Amino acid sequence: MSAPHMPMTNDEGLLECPFCGGNEVYLIVDLVLVSVECEGCCASSGEWGSSETAIRHWNTRNGHLYTADDFNQAAEERDYGL
Ligand SMILES: [Zn+2]
Repeated sequence: MSAPHMPMTNDEGLLECPFCGGNEVYLIVDLVLVSVECEGCCASSGEWGSSETAIRHWNTRNGHLYTADDFNQAAEERDYGL
């Protein structure tokens, strides 16, 4: 069974890049400011005061924050062909 494509999070809990689809996404800490940036296309979440906030902004797509539940639900919907 091949793995279907779906948004994945890496070890840091970061979604793949929404622009280039890359998984080379890193948390960048610059003194007190934290941002999430894509190595592939330099997309950035913008700078935030904490890693939690930066991750939350990066993982929010179309106003919706992706969580582990979303991935489980997406997998279920695929199984039922929805
Ligand atoms: Zn990218």
